[in-house]
Parts: sequence; structure tokens; C-alpha cells
Amino acid sequence: MNYQPVIGLEVHVQLNTRSKIFCGCSTRFGAEPNAHTCPVCLGLPGALPVLNRQVVESAIMAGLATNCAIAHKSIFARKNYFYPDLPKGYQISQFEQPICEKGWLDIQVEGQPPKRIGITRIHMEEDAGKLVHGLGNGSGVDLNRAGTPLLEVVSEPDFRSADEAVAYLKQLHQIVTYLGICDGNMEEGSFRCDANVSVMPVGSATFGTRAEIKNVNSFKFVKAAIEYEITRQIDLLSDGGTVVQETRLFDPATGTTRSMRGKEEAHDYRYFPDPDLVPLVISAEWVERTKKELPELPDVKRQRFITELGLSEYDAEVLTSSRSLAAYFEETAAVAHNPKAAANWVMGEVTRTLNDRGLAINSCPVPPRRLADLLHLIDKGAISNNIAKKVFEAMWQSGKEPAAIVEEQGMAQVSDTGAIEAAIDQILAANQGQVEEYRSGKEKVFGFFVGQVMRAMKGTANPAVVNELLLNKLKG
Ligand code: ADP
Ligand code: MG
Ligand code: ZN
Repeated sequence: MNYQPVIGLEVHVQLNTRSKIFCGCSTRFGAEPNAHTCPVCLGLPGALPVLNRQVVESAIMAGLATNCAIAHKSIFARKNYFYPDLPKGYQISQFEQPICEKGWLDIQVEGQPPKRIGITRIHMEEDAGKLVHGLGNGSGVDLNRAGTPLLEVVSEPDFRSADEAVAYLKQLHQIVTYLGICDGNMEEGSFRCDANVSVMPVGSATFGTRAEIKNVNSFKFVKAAIEYEITRQIDLLSDGGTVVQETRLFDPATGTTRSMRGKEEAHDYRYFPDPDLVPLVISAEWVERTKKELPELPDVKRQRFITELGLSEYDAEVLTSSRSLAAYFEETAAVAHNPKAAANWVMGEVTRTLNDRGLAINSCPVPPRRLADLLHLIDKGAISNNIAKKVFEAMWQSGKEPAAIVEEQGMAQVSDTGAIEAAIDQILAANQGQVEEYRSGKEKVFGFFVGQVMRAMKGTANPAVVNELLLNKLKG
């Protein structure tokens, strides 16, 4: 029997607001344990939550960017469970009336037509704290993270392969980082997902029983976890077994998933509206204003790079992969008045050098303006493209202006025929044998002469001038 996988994703997006969702404590990472706490996020009796407006704004932005309807009225609910990192004994979340519903994203898997994926809902909630183990005579609780704002984005079970799920995740990641509401750092867990996976016989009208794989935090692991889980379930069914509804964990070391808890141990969260928080009412004006202020989203930017700046589809795709890379490119192109050269340099030397040094574009020591100055020098014929790569390296190291480096290191391109002729004469005199060969028809030696002249002039000779003069002299 052939089986069809069915997948739905729940993504947790950690918002980058400066303060927590229901108190004024800082959300900054890496402080002393419990330094960023107060009666509200410690869950002390009688402390009352106050909703952070910026969290609502971020949720509206995420909803608009994913084609959701923004609810005029939404409700916060208590999700009850016991765990030491949750001081109140409940997490404030949203249940029956979330802030965003009924959205979608169009995804594209290479070699397949675009496909629309439904987004069931997006809701706001608070994160829990963290347990710290291995402290000697016990474990500790660090509540710095308790109350950090999260958005949970729940998809419809619309994916039919791991590749579709990954394409969606990448797109959603790109959207929330473009919106500037999440730092997108997956290793630190700022963007993580639960993958729900089931399989059913091809052609079946009812979905199979699903397993939920918790907290996968890289695109690679999501793909591996889903593919492993599909195979596991198909093998199980083919052997006459049944899939049980359960929560599983992915182990990156082995590439496998294992059971964490079954249905019997599943939590009964006893959701109910939180009486401490009034219903959230969002005016149509607020939604309109937010819509007007949305930054340009990746799809629109990519299209604009193609139509306005004349980039190829591939270049536009690469250069819009992150908002900061796109901004770096766009400023370089604007100042240099040369989008094509800017694209080549940003995708070439800049990216290569950043990768070599494990840096992100935000930490590039060569600012766009200075890269544009370098491109000007090439355009003017002051330096060759090859020399420009050396100048770029020197700019990276020293932070100096390109013109100053060219001047200091005598890298300016020489087009002066006198200097080039002198070099050619020397090379020809020193290599009489090769000159004979050339004149007797072995034209391949020409490249040898060009190389020698370039070397003698430390790469600064204008190649077109060298070619022309050499041809003349060798004919003579
Ligand atoms: P819960 O809150 O218990 O996780 P939900 O009904 O909210 O349950 O569903 C969570 C996710 O599981 C959604 O993304 C949904 O698309 C997905 N899902 C639901 N049924 C299936 C199924 N049979 N196979 C795969 N995914 C599913
Ligand atoms: Mg779930
Ligand atoms: Zn607090």
C-alpha cells in the first residue's frame, strides 16, 4: 500500500520587544539568573498583568503579512499545567478568540508549482522560565525568560512533504525578520517549531493519527525529523501496527524521534478566560495604520529588484534573502549608480569574505558607501577588477578609503603607453626564443607575454592597452 504524509506546523516566534508581555521587566538575554523579574513574572499572589502594546502591534504586523483577518476583539486565556518553570501554575495564552485567524502563505518548492498553505491562527502568549540543572545539591529556576512574548503561528495540515514544510518555515522566518519583530536566531530558540506528522493511504479522505515532534530549531532538523517520522509511521502501518497519538522528541545526534509522552499523559489544560485581563479590542484605525507602516516584504522587494534595478531572478532572490543584505546591496547600488556591479560584488567578494570570517552582513567592516567608491574606481578605469579585489581586502583590514589605498600602494591602473611599451620591450628582449616561436605561427605564446608584462607591472597595466601594444610589437 502507498501512503501519503500529512503535516501541520506550530511555530513559536519570540518577539524582540524590549520589555516582557505583561510587565516592564527587560527581555535581554544573558543576565544573572532572576535579575529581570518582578512580582508579575514571578507569579506572586495579587500581582496583576498589564498587556504590552508593542506585542499587540507585532501580532497585527505578523497577521497582516500572512493574510490573516485581525480580530476586532480577542481574549487571553489561562493554560493550566504544573511545572517548576511556570510560577503561576498557568501560562497566559489565547485559546478561543485569538488575535489573528484564517491567513495563508504561497510557498514554492523547487520544480513544483506554487502552493497555498492555510494559516489557522496566530495567537500571543508568554514564555515560561528555565530550569538550571547541575548546580551541586539541586536544580535552580531562572525566571528571566518567564513572560517573554511569543507568537504562535498554527498552520492547517496542508503540507504533503518535508520539503513543503521547510519552504513554508523559511518563508515565515523571512517575513518575521523583515518585519523586524523577531531576531530570527534559531539556535537560541527565537524561532522554533512543533511538527505534526501523520500518514494515510493514498486517496483516503480521512487523516491518520498524528505524532507531534516538539521544539525543532533548525531547517535541517525539521526536514530530518519529518522524514524520519514519515518512514517510521509507514513502516509501523505496513507491519500491521497502529500509530498512537503522542508527543515525540527529535534527537539530532541520531536523526531519529522518540516518544516523550503518550495520550494518557497528555495535559488537560483546562483553558478558561483570564479574569485579570480585559478583552483586547483593536480598532480598524489601528489595523489600517499598521498596514500603511508595514516594511516592504520579501516578495515585493524581490520583484522590484527585478523590474526597477534590472537584476536577474536568481540575483534578486539571493539579495533579498535577508532584509539587512538587501539594504546593504540597495545602498551600494544607489550610490554607485550601478546595480549590476553592486549585485556582483555583494554576492561575490562581500559574501565570500563574510563567510570566510563567519560574519553576518551587519558586521561587515566595509560600509556600502565605501564599496560604492570602489566600484566608481573600476567604472572610471582607474583600477582593474582584479586589483579592486586586493583593494577591497585592504579596505576590510584597514578601514581606509579605496582611493587612499590605491594611491598608497601604487595600484592605479596604468594606461600610459610609454610605461607599458617599456615593459613590453624588456620582456620581448629577454625572451627571444618565444618571440621566434610566436612569429613562426605558435600563437599560443601570446598569453605568456601578457602574463609576463602584467607581472612586471604588478598587475596595474590596462589589459586592453597591453594586448594592443603587444600585438603590434610582435607583428613588427
Ligand atoms: P494541539 O493544540 O493539540 O496541538 P491542534 O488541533 O491545534 O492541536 O493542531 C495542531 C497542529 O496539528 C496544526 O498545525 C494542525 O494543522 C496539525 N494537524 C492536525 N491534525 C493533523 C493530522 N492528522 N496530521 C498532521 N497534522 C495535523
Ligand atoms: Mg500542538
Ligand atoms: Zn516582570
